[in-house]
Amino acid sequence: MEPINTELVVVGAGPGGYTAAFYAADKGKQVILVERDARLGGVCLNRGCIPSKAYLHAAKLISEARESGAWGVHFDPPKINLDTMRAWKESILDRLAQGIGGLARKRNVQIIHGRGYFEDSQTLRVETEAGQRFIRYQQAIIAVGSKPAMPKAFDLGNPRIMTSNDALELEEIPKDLLIIGGGYIGMELGTMYAALGSKVVVVEAMDSILSGADPDLVSPVLQYAAKAFREMRVKTKVLEMATSGRQIRVVLETAGVAKEELYDRVLVCVGRAPAGEDLGLENTRAVKDERGFIKVNEKQQTADPPIYAIGDIVGGAMLAHKATKEARIAVEVLTGEASVFEDIVIPAVVFTDPEVAWCGLTEAEAKHKGRQVAVAKFPWSASGRALSFGRTDGLTKLIIEPESERILGVGISGSGAGELISEGVFAIEMGATAKDLAESMHPHPTLSETLMECAEVFYGSSTHAWARKKSESDGP
Ligand code: FAD
Repeated sequence: MEPINTELVVVGAGPGGYTAAFYAADKGKQVILVERDARLGGVCLNRGCIPSKAYLHAAKLISEARESGAWGVHFDPPKINLDTMRAWKESILDRLAQGIGGLARKRNVQIIHGRGYFEDSQTLRVETEAGQRFIRYQQAIIAVGSKPAMPKAFDLGNPRIMTSNDALELEEIPKDLLIIGGGYIGMELGTMYAALGSKVVVVEAMDSILSGADPDLVSPVLQYAAKAFREMRVKTKVLEMATSGRQIRVVLETAGVAKEELYDRVLVCVGRAPAGEDLGLENTRAVKDERGFIKVNEKQQTADPPIYAIGDIVGGAMLAHKATKEARIAVEVLTGEASVFEDIVIPAVVFTDPEVAWCGLTEAEAKHKGRQVAVAKFPWSASGRALSFGRTDGLTKLIIEPESERILGVGISGSGAGELISEGVFAIEMGATAKDLAESMHPHPTLSETLMECAEVFYGSSTHAWARKKSESDGP
């Protein structure tokens, strides 16, 4: 078969890949998008962001139905039909994937389903069901993403030892579930399974969960987990795992003491690994780092001029919105615009109960770097909106540069924090000062007011929270 010639080939149709393909097509490029999965959308749509959030929505409903007894609204305990739940999740994924397919067609982006393999710097071989296709391209964007890391010692070939991919298949609700890793994926899936009825134990090797977030923001999640989970153990390592009948025998070590326990299922959430093996990268001049991530500069260019790489495969913050931003930068660079991934504020959101979200500089980072900052906090116990739905377990905080009063960082924990953080991103990107935030009228009663009032706290005059006047405080 004759090779297909194209201006741009994009390998991988996750949020990075399809954004790049669409944006390049919008800019007039002739684009082929290669995806090995039957369904478009990548990890985010199929095995990540979307299915986890769908199930977490169901989990929230279950928790709220339980809590509403305190407001005089009583429901019977929930009956969970896993088949219906899975079908509901699948229907969401199908709809989204079809939407991506439709948008590709409208833009004349050609989709080829198959596994891409670089033959050389200008040729991609695609293994399709119908045989091999060769694509001769002028430029390529690699967006092949990542996969769950599974340490060899845990990989017993026992389906009861799960990755996040398996956990989202929701085969059953295990009675006793051990989650290894207190990062955002472990904590989100723990929240989901605990609401569905599992007795969840989360173990984390470090001394805290959700590393990266300030401890005061994590605190409400720990309080919730203390009630919802059977246990949370930090500074705990898994020494051994073995199959024991229909269960998994796990030896865990905390503070030098080893303990043997049995679980119905174990969910391994110890991180994500780049999915760049078997891609033929060695046939190009693009290079990987020692962990297998493709090395790129701030223009998303690899060491091979026609080849760019974006998203999880280049490492850094492995988040969908980081992938989509990099996609736009790569396309702008390859179409001749001056664009770089520099000084970009990347928000992080953990969809636990309550949610935790932050962006820009954190208090811990400032301390670590020895940077002088002012920190203003507004507790949600002072928010009428938070009280109106019984979730005062939140906190909004601002990290402010004392001299310029510029907002350097924003952190929020509380219900819907993930929706609120964008105002923080915008404030930092626009170089807003605490005064800008304090003087921007926020609608009442909303949780967004906590950002405005937090800025007022900085000036010592928040209406609903008492704060020392700026002149009386030790700091700025
Ligand atoms: P991916 O989404 O990984 O897509 C890569 C695509 O490339 C895949 O479709 C794959 O099949 C394809 N591919 C791989 N190799 C080849 C090949 N050789 N040929 C052809 N195709 C190939 N991020 C957030 O921002 N918010 C969240 O709430 C969130 N929740 C998550 C929850 C879970 C459980 C997980 C696992 C991840 C979550 N993430 C979340 C992370 C997010 O999913 C990733 O950061 C994002 O999907 C990365 O996008 P990408 O385009 O780089 O790659």
